[in-house]
Amino acid sequence: MYLQFSKLQQYHSLVHFVSTRKGGVSASPFSEANLSYAVQDSAEAVAQNREAIARQVGFEVKQLCVPQQTHSANIRLIAETDAGQGAYNHHTGLADTDGMVTAESKVCMMVFSADCVLTLLYDHKKQVIGAVHGGWRGTTQQLAAKAALLMQQHFGSKAEDILVGIAPAIGLCCYEVGEEVAATFANSFAQATNYMKKNEQTGKYHLALQTATAGQLRNEGGILPQNIEILPQCTSCQSDLFFSSRKNNGLTGRFGAGIMLK
Ligand SMILES: [Zn+2]
Repeated sequence: MYLQFSKLQQYHSLVHFVSTRKGGVSASPFSEANLSYAVQDSAEAVAQNREAIARQVGFEVKQLCVPQQTHSANIRLIAETDAGQGAYNHHTGLADTDGMVTAESKVCMMVFSADCVLTLLYDHKKQVIGAVHGGWRGTTQQLAAKAALLMQQHFGSKAEDILVGIAPAIGLCCYEVGEEVAATFANSFAQATNYMKKNEQTGKYHLALQTATAGQLRNEGGILPQNIEILPQCTSCQSDLFFSSRKNNGLTGRFGAGIMLK
């Protein structure tokens, strides 16, 4: 079972998805559809789950290009020969990478989350795509906006031609952070405080990573507001449907968001 962005769905040259935790074969605490080899799930289960999502969505597992995410600010330009990197295990994944951009077809770039923000980008005129993973660190680095800028600088994409989908992530309702993270976040980009709210009961701040990402895409990336679609589900509130690290105390699987030019 997977979700799609209505803004991207209409393009037949594109394959994309946001997976859920439903429908796979992994056992607890990775049940059911964990897509990541980086957690302590059975490799056989992950392979079966990847086969299932590939079959449903319409790509091949060998076309996957998967990063070893490290909450870095690194975005890689993906070549045709990167198809298959990390497709069948963790160690062949792209080292120290949290964003990918390409104009190559038949490479399905997939990023993972259990609360973090996954962003898919698509220039429907020039046929350029991007996939980005960002937690609070990636958000302070404005990683999704940087991917949009890389599409413009490297491939000549026009900002107004780029469509963006932001997958379900932990919401303002649940994402409480400590003082240090709150202070770092507040100072990391203009208007950051618009995406923070103090919980008067605990005295701690909550962050809104999805809308912060959207704001950065508008302000720094030049993306038109009407071209940004957010799937608003909170992964922690809906941990029956999505993996949530916060809700499950760090021991859980990963759902994925993937994008490929046919
Ligand atoms: Zn929530």
